[in-house]
Amino acid sequence: MTLEIDVVCLFPGMLEGPLSESIPGRTRERGLAEIRLHDLREWGLGKHRSVDDAPYGGGAGMVLRPGPVAAALDALRRPDTTAILLDPGGEVFNQARAADLAGRSHLVLVCPRYEGIDERIRDLVDLELSIGDYVLTGGELPALVVIDAVTRLLPGAIDDASTVEESFSAGLLEYPQYTRPAEFRGRSVPDILVGGNHAAVRRWRHDQAVERTRARRPDLLPPE
Ligand code: SAM
Repeated sequence: MTLEIDVVCLFPGMLEGPLSESIPGRTRERGLAEIRLHDLREWGLGKHRSVDDAPYGGGAGMVLRPGPVAAALDALRRPDTTAILLDPGGEVFNQARAADLAGRSHLVLVCPRYEGIDERIRDLVDLELSIGDYVLTGGELPALVVIDAVTRLLPGAIDDASTVEESFSAGLLEYPQYTRPAEFRGRSVPDILVGGNHAAVRRWRHDQAVERTRARRPDLLPPE
């Protein structure tokens, strides 16, 4: 099945390059994902295709008007659509949500700019996502983050073992990884990894993952 993604933003050029390279690019080439980029100004108002206006009540900056975004959603929405607003106040995006979205068939990502979007647009979306507790200038980079995390989970995008064992998939950070040389600046690869005992390697990796998670991200572990 192909995951279809429509992105509505003011700077589609910001997404074009990253979505053509590496894994997102390959998932598109292989038909696992179909990603369409739309300039919100296609639905802009008047001869200047205006999309923003000053906030009611005063204050700094401009706010995206509801009309153009609503028109874009009306045009793109289908019965199977999940419409997502990128917003610093949304649910914090994580691996579980990425896996959930990878199982859907059509995503529409709405990427505001300026001071944000007219409050009434929130009624028209199914989900609001934040990529973390900081403020970026627009929703384009957050949309890229979501698309990258979701498309690499599509069956066939990468080796399944990579996504099963990596950080957050099992509620743990990933275990330490090593490659050649066996000795680097006075530090050796742990003996267990070169001993050829696969069961012992699996146990060591699991223990290391738990230890690392306890040290760095105890919030990921269930309460004792
Ligand atoms: N005035 C808004 C506030 O204080 O919450 C910030 C607006 S921000 C400058 C412009 C747009 O960038 C937001 O509407 C959102 O689409 C996007 N954005 C910024 N930071 C984000 C984040 N952490 N997660 C998701 N989207 C973000």
